[in-house]
Formats: sequence, structure tokens, C-alpha cells
Amino acid sequence: MIKLYNTLTGKKETFKPLKKGKVGMYVCGLTVQDRPHIGHIRAAITGDIIKRYFEYSGYAVTLVTNFTDIDDKIIQKAKESGEDFRKIARTIINEYLEVSDKLNIQCADYYPEATKHIQEIQEFIAKLIEKGFAYVSGGDVYYEVSKFKSYGKLSGKILDELRVGARVEPDETKRNPVDFVLWKATKEGEPWWESPWGRGRPGWHIECSAMSMHYLGETFDIHGGGEDLIFPHHENEIAQSEGLTGKPFAKYWVHNGFLNLRGEKMSKSIGNVIFVRDILKIYNPDTVRLYMLSTHYRNPIDYYEERLKEQEGGYERLKQVLFLLSQIEGDEIEVDSKIIELFREAMDDDFNTPKALSVIYSYSRTVFEIFENEPDSQRLLSARKTLSEMLGVLGLFVSEEKEHVSQDDKLIDLLLAVRSELREKKEFGISDKIRDNLRKLKIEIEDTDKASRWKRM
Ligand SMILES: [Zn+2]
Repeated sequence: MIKLYNTLTGKKETFKPLKKGKVGMYVCGLTVQDRPHIGHIRAAITGDIIKRYFEYSGYAVTLVTNFTDIDDKIIQKAKESGEDFRKIARTIINEYLEVSDKLNIQCADYYPEATKHIQEIQEFIAKLIEKGFAYVSGGDVYYEVSKFKSYGKLSGKILDELRVGARVEPDETKRNPVDFVLWKATKEGEPWWESPWGRGRPGWHIECSAMSMHYLGETFDIHGGGEDLIFPHHENEIAQSEGLTGKPFAKYWVHNGFLNLRGEKMSKSIGNVIFVRDILKIYNPDTVRLYMLSTHYRNPIDYYEERLKEQEGGYERLKQVLFLLSQIEGDEIEVDSKIIELFREAMDDDFNTPKALSVIYSYSRTVFEIFENEPDSQRLLSARKTLSEMLGVLGLFVSEEKEHVSQDDKLIDLLLAVRSELREKKEFGISDKIRDNLRKLKIEIEDTDKASRWKRM
């Protein structure tokens, strides 16, 4: 039984799926104004661990992670640099996917981008207006917070208190300062889309409501993200989605803690940002993962490079034990069920990765002892399977898995080798057929005197 802490109830609860054997999960992703830093990647690794563990426990998981590719800061950046906002977004999305892959973060099933779901967003807003939860003011559309009776149930905020602190920007025409924008009228020089309320663009909160519903349905199992998103972002998502459907939105809300740099939130405006790409130039991806997983996902991490460096010792030990085990000949036999049980106990308890890692480390010490004292190939073969099973669930030392990505490349190489032999035998009919069919797959073959090369068109 998997237990997880639900921000909505403030309790650790036993996970019960909405549909047997299935988990639908939405994790708020990056607003692509800024290159991915290690704070961003913490939410992604948390989501990855949860997904991997559910899958290991026999569930089929559908994970959706969005990209917010339109917002004030992206527009600002486009204005400053003179680049198209789409180009800025694309570059950052590509970098995010690249570093995610390096860190063994399994791909989400869907990576929706806000600007590709304008229609769903507009339909959502239109229905909210129809149901009386939203109103048009000038070319803007606002959500009327006072209409949603349980507003504040996730964050514990009290509406009357929020009203006192709320500020209205000079260009806003809200009925109430706590109302939030669903659709923003365009300003000079900004990107816009046609809508029933005039040219404009979506607000931030509505995109997650619209896209999560589009991919996962009106009610789904788990909604995740950084704890800084609890208010207002996730509170507003609940107001929008439950306002529209009258049904519960997400059943479990899972939030990861901050990753601070020397006590301060990592933010570009303060200038204390460490980009994932830069870290990966120095440290092995497994070391970075070990570092993140050595703190429980709900606890804050205060980032110091020395602490990351400390993980290298653990990484080396595990690498060494895996190498020794890889030298043992023979088929793998059953896992050590007692160890797996300890591992599961830790992970069942709200994905307690520090505890799971301590099971792994202590087990690897045992394995070293077996090697030194009484090398027993049966026990070692079992240890090999046990260790790689646990490490796999945590996405550690799984680089062989990634070779599947280049499986296509290997197949093309193989086809080319066969084709070369055919050409040597002057079987030009068949060899040309291979070339033409590959071209249809956007793969271009170039024949030189000595060999043939290929490239993607
Ligand atoms: Zn979101």
C-alpha cells in the first residue's frame, strides 16, 4: 500500500486510484522564460520518482507535464532581445528536455504547451462565464473568486483576509481585488489570439486547468508541483476546474519543497541561479540524482556544492559494487525479498527516498562483505538482481536503458551494412529500393567511394 501526503487534507493517506490499476498525474512544468536551473529540476525528479514507483508497483501511469510558453516574462524577454517569443520558448524547452534526459527523468506521456491549446482554454473560459463564475470586463475576463464557496481549501487562506492584502494593478478592471485573470486583452506589440472577448492571450492558471482536463479528464488522481505553487496557482486551478465541473479536481495534491541557494530561493532576479546544464558539465547525472534523493521530497534542500560533491563517494561505491557483480557469470536468480521488502516499506511511506537509499547503501556493504569473506555466486547473482531492481526504481545507474533511444540508429546502420553488401554483389535494384524507402522516412544516404553514410533530412 502506497501512502502519500496530501496537501489538500494535510494528512498522509493510502493511495486509492480512481480507476483500478491506473494513475493519472499532472505536474506543473516550466514557465519557459528562463533556462532550467536545479530548483526547476527538483519537481521533475520528484514526479519521475513517483511515476517510477507507481509503475514498479503495477500501475499504468499517465503523466502530463506542461510548458507555460506564453506569459508576461516571456513577452518581456522577447521585447528585450528582439526575438520571437516562440523561438525563446522552443530553445528553453529543448534544453529542458535535454537535461531531463541526461538526468534519467523518464519522458512524460504528454508535454502540452499553452499556446497549442488556446481553443480548449477559450472553451473552458466561455463555460465559466456561462456558469456565472467569470465575467468580462473590457477585453479581459476574470474569475470571480467569491462565487466559488470553497476557495482557500488547498492553501488554507481565508478569502476575507486575502481581500485586505490584495492589490489591483492600474490597468485591471476587476470587480474585486482577489479576482484573477483568465483572458488578458492584448497590448501594443504583444502576441495575441482571436477570442469571443477580443484579441488577447490566456492567463497562467487557466492553462493548467484546461490542459489537465484535456489529457486526464475532469477528475484525476495526482496533481503535483513545487510548494510555491500552492497559492495562488493551484488554489486557482481548483476554483476553475471545480467551478466548471462541480466535481472534485485532483484527488491527491503532492508538493515538493524548495531548493534554496544559501538560504535564498533560486531566482534569476536575485542572480543566484545554477543551471542544470552547467552542473552536468561537472557532475555525473547519477550523482545529481543521489543528491536530490538524499533529502525527502517534501523537505527543503539548501544547496551547497560541497553537499553535492559528497555524493560522489556514494556514487563511486555503488558503481564499484555493480561492476564487481557484473563480473559474476550465470543467470540471474530471484531477488532478495527481505531487502526488497525494506526498500518498498521506505518507498510506500510517502516515497521516502533517503530511507530507500540507506537500504541500498547498507545492502551494498553486505555485498562487499560477501565478496571478501565467502564469495557465493548464488547469493551474488541474487544481489545483482536485487540492487539493480532498487536502483532502477530510483532511476539510478540506468544508462543502458537509454541505449534504446539510439536503437533506431543501430537499425539504420544495419540496413546500410546490408545494402553495402548488396552493392558489392551488384544487386543495385534492391539496394536502390532500400535507399528510396529510407528517404521516405527522411533519412538520406550518401554513397562515397569507400562507404555509405546517412543523415536525417
Ligand atoms: Zn500549473
